[in-house]
Amino acid sequence: MSVCLAVDIGGTKIAAALVDCATNHIIERCQIATPKTQQPAILSAALESLLIPFIAQADFVAVASTGIINNGILIALNPTNLGGLNRFELVDYIYKITQLPTYAINDAQAAAWYEFISLNPNSNTDNMLFITISTGIGGGLVLNQQLQTGARGISGHIGHTVVNANGPLCGCGRQGCIEKVASGTAIGEIGTSLFNHLYSGQDVYQLALEGNSAALNIIHSSAAAVAELIANLTITLDLDTVVIGGSVGLAPNYCNYIQQYLNEKPELYRPRIILAQSGGDAGLLGAASWFAQQQSH
Ligand SMILES: [Zn+2]
Repeated sequence: MSVCLAVDIGGTKIAAALVDCATNHIIERCQIATPKTQQPAILSAALESLLIPFIAQADFVAVASTGIINNGILIALNPTNLGGLNRFELVDYIYKITQLPTYAINDAQAAAWYEFISLNPNSNTDNMLFITISTGIGGGLVLNQQLQTGARGISGHIGHTVVNANGPLCGCGRQGCIEKVASGTAIGEIGTSLFNHLYSGQDVYQLALEGNSAALNIIHSSAAAVAELIANLTITLDLDTVVIGGSVGLAPNYCNYIQQYLNEKPELYRPRIILAQSGGDAGLLGAASWFAQQQSH
């Protein structure tokens, strides 16, 4: 029986788990808060204390991490997000701690793979996009039933496709990325400037649910932008299924709004839209499953 030590490194928490590769179930799990100071030595120390108790039982390590994972090195698309961790040699650091074969992919890519293997086997899905609409917007692509990570780890970073060339400047350096226009953070920022009151995305969503039409318009604009992105990628990649996740994506009615905007388009632009099935462990389980499969080939 092969056991994977799966690690999920996010902006707020770092989770680690032993995963039974035969069943893809978690045997044991633990998590800590992500250190606030973005310094490699501090992150490395935090990883060490988290991982050491699991090492003896594991055969290999599979990491799902925020950021772009280019040949094992963490690269920030938006340097302000990762601060001092830009160019952190993630795989090397973890290998030094564990002395086990170590592999890493982006967390949304890992979650995409988990959503793919969780689909009904009768759904005949070949080309699937996973979109998470949350604080930011991320994604992962499965084409011909294989996860696409990309030669530089970039594949699936759909949050930085442009929906409004005159839109606000994004941290990645482009203007009007969908993340700046439609994410939970963007919903909060648009609400804050519209209502002249400091609101989070969740606050604006709540107002919309209570019937505030201006707030509802903000949510609709977000869903309309996501629907356009889905239509563009569907006609580019021949997607048959799109899985929607994230705190905004899974919020009441949001997916219905996306569907409503897609329904206005010709049939070729309308893939099957489903809600993400997995909860917070999609990154752990997706990374474990993907690298267990890669090893067996
Ligand atoms: Zn961007």
